[in-house]
Amino acid sequence: MSKPITITKIRTILTSPEKIPLVIVKIETSEPGLYGLGCATFTQRYLAVATAIDEYLTPFLIGRDVSQIEDIWQTCMTSAYWRNGPITNNAVSGIDMALWDIKGKVAGMPVYDLLGGKTREAAAVYRHADGKSLTEVEDNVRNYMEQGLLYIRCQMGGYGGRIDQIKSPEGALPGAYFDPHGYARNTVKLFEHMRNTVGHDIELLHDVHERLAPIEAIRLSKNLEPYRLFFLEDALAPEQVDWFAIMRNQSSTPVAMGELFTHPQEWLPLIQNRLIDFIRCHISTIGGITPAKKLAHLCEAFSVRTAWHGPGDVSPIGHAANLHIDVSSANFGVQEWWGPSDKIQEVFPGTPILKGGYVYPNDKPGLGIDIDEKLAAQFPCDNKDAVKDMWTTARTPDGGAWRP
Ligand code: MG
Repeated sequence: MSKPITITKIRTILTSPEKIPLVIVKIETSEPGLYGLGCATFTQRYLAVATAIDEYLTPFLIGRDVSQIEDIWQTCMTSAYWRNGPITNNAVSGIDMALWDIKGKVAGMPVYDLLGGKTREAAAVYRHADGKSLTEVEDNVRNYMEQGLLYIRCQMGGYGGRIDQIKSPEGALPGAYFDPHGYARNTVKLFEHMRNTVGHDIELLHDVHERLAPIEAIRLSKNLEPYRLFFLEDALAPEQVDWFAIMRNQSSTPVAMGELFTHPQEWLPLIQNRLIDFIRCHISTIGGITPAKKLAHLCEAFSVRTAWHGPGDVSPIGHAANLHIDVSSANFGVQEWWGPSDKIQEVFPGTPILKGGYVYPNDKPGLGIDIDEKLAAQFPCDNKDAVKDMWTTARTPDGGAWRP
């Protein structure tokens, strides 16, 4: 038996080229020049994740055989006894993705080949069209259609449709104010306008972002039926998933859910009971490629398709991991795509590129993406970027705190 390749060094690299803190894990090995990269990005608590990796997982893993991804995942997840949660899961994800990257490099294969091979050449993606008015959203949708996009998410005025004329009590606390009733009414008008102007030959999506009371979300889902959405996303908060059974009985608008999930018991009942149509977990926040591929297989058995979370607070390495799972999954649905800037592509050579409506993986071994560490160091993370943004402090007109 040949000598195993072992983990010799683990480093977290913190970088913020777009003022969104990203957490990258680099695993170095006993094989000279062989390393792997993973995404452990939890932008809002990035130092907590980095500490979990540097102070706890690194000493736990030095000397381990890099080939044993499954055992390393299982033991990292339970090594603190208390498990799951976004900090532990992201820390484990950084390790997990880096080990898949290494396994691909050792095998001389892209990760999608290790996962069963391509089921399609590229992943269809959706972009976000927002705007302050119906015509502004329409213009942005037409713009994406001209670029070849086949799926477009439409929002008006951001999440919860923020509007200026909110009447709040004196002394109301600061926050991201929104009016749930105005938002729900405007959203129906938005999709009526879009179907009347751009027609039905384009898939349209919408993200409620938990901004409605459950019964209001059910009413919105019913009212949107004539406009044939590809899916309605995060219509309910994770704490209120039991309402999905009622939504299912009331409306045929397809349901996408899961970007906030961190525990298998959150998704299991929704899939088993066929209450959702698309699973859209944030892959690093459930623990990496290893649990995501298992989740994709579970979903396949129930005809639930994948639509992994793909915002700017997933690093390009995380986006590459999404893409390898996308193209190797029979039940792939659609991939959210954030549109990497030139700066991001310089820091992360090999960042996947959008052509028409599709993102194509490259055929390099592993995840096919690298990091220019010298350049990354020019964009240090700032804790202020992680805490100053008020978008997560959602409030209703009377000043009450709401799920963001
Ligand atoms: Mg979302």
